[in-house]
Amino acid sequence: MQNLTLLGATGSIGSSTLDIVSRHPDRYRVYALTANTNVEKMAVLCEQFNPQYAVMADVDSAGELKSRLGNCQTEVRSGEQALAEVAEQSEVDIVVAAIVGSVGLMPTLAAVRAAKRVLLANKEALVMAGALFMDEVAEHGAELIPVDSEHNAIFQCLPTGYTVGSKPSGIRKILLTGSGGPFRELPMQSFESVTPEQAIAHPNWDMGPKISVDSATMMNKGLELIEACWLFDIAETDIDIVLHKQSIIHSLVAYNDGSVLAQMGMPDMRTPIANALAWPERIESGVEPLDLIKVSQLNFESADEIRFPCLALARAAFREGGTSMAILNAANEVAVENFLSGRIKFTEIAQLIERTLDNLPSQDSDDLQTIMQDDLRAREFVQKHINLIRQ
Ligand code: NAD
Ligand code: MG
Repeated sequence: MQNLTLLGATGSIGSSTLDIVSRHPDRYRVYALTANTNVEKMAVLCEQFNPQYAVMADVDSAGELKSRLGNCQTEVRSGEQALAEVAEQSEVDIVVAAIVGSVGLMPTLAAVRAAKRVLLANKEALVMAGALFMDEVAEHGAELIPVDSEHNAIFQCLPTGYTVGSKPSGIRKILLTGSGGPFRELPMQSFESVTPEQAIAHPNWDMGPKISVDSATMMNKGLELIEACWLFDIAETDIDIVLHKQSIIHSLVAYNDGSVLAQMGMPDMRTPIANALAWPERIESGVEPLDLIKVSQLNFESADEIRFPCLALARAAFREGGTSMAILNAANEVAVENFLSGRIKFTEIAQLIERTLDNLPSQDSDDLQTIMQDDLRAREFVQKHINLIRQ
């Protein structure tokens, strides 16, 4: 029986994880659940899974949850410190990092430092602090397993016994697939008037609002490129992005002998989550079997960096190194929030990120304090700029 802490329990990845956990009560026990403000959903989850701890990042929400739970045995806690504590406690075996955005970095690092099996969905944490993050994984002997579907696919296609963070041998290229999001074919002149509702309506995946917008701008693929470089210790030039609109192949690894291995399956996050939970075993995930006859066609095309400027911005930030990836990530987070709240246009997301990268010099450091400083500088820069143009 393994004890599990789920950071970001009320989100899309959180729900998929709990769906699998509920299919295997003999394997997994929910030790702690965390969320930000969604008291309603958290209360239901606490009643269903009866965790030892429930942490609300937001203090007022924790108070509300406490009164909602009445005499349930779950201990309710609040704040950032508590998020980290439930990730590092000795009783915990597995930590699922499914908080969205840079706020997920500290609790995920706490799990890494406590040498847990860490299931990483929170790509922003790795993008902003990749060098430091991977050093800590190696130093503490944490077992890092990617949950992002592409990275989990690559992980499955790498040689048996491969450890995440090490350089795989015999590899020619990694082919990172992406659906191209909802605007793959939209005429470019229509990008200006795209609404948040259109942007979050992904054709293949059902995800949280932030990653859905990232998929529409293709910043998601840019972040994933950086994520792959850190996870698999591979050069950015050795990763090709391939558009594949059906989302059936989740990524591929091309070997020196000409073999190309792909991982396939229905676009359902329960597959990579189940894989990462049970690895190297395979468990039932509830995912519908892949019917190739029904799919009938698999299409591939190149990714257009003019249509999707965020791809080039992410590549450039990785090449630049240091804190430029933290700056890219923070600028994107603030721009996406402002797009979702109707303050900026879809096309302004990439423009704001570019402006931020052009104006803020990055620092050649992987020290946590410097990363957090530059993350904050980028947030302030973007917000100030938006306030100025929207006066
Ligand atoms: P979501 O918006 O559905 O859920 C986010 C979770 O994070 C919620 O539980 C929320 O309470 C929590 N959270 C938000 N702000 C917080 C804060 N300030 N403090 C503490 N907790 C906070 O997001 P999601 O789609 O589940 O994505 C989660 C992460 O997984 C993201 O990093 C995303 O890029 C990654 N990911 C998601 C998918 C997917 O299919 N949804 C696929 C691959 C990777
Ligand atoms: Mg992905």
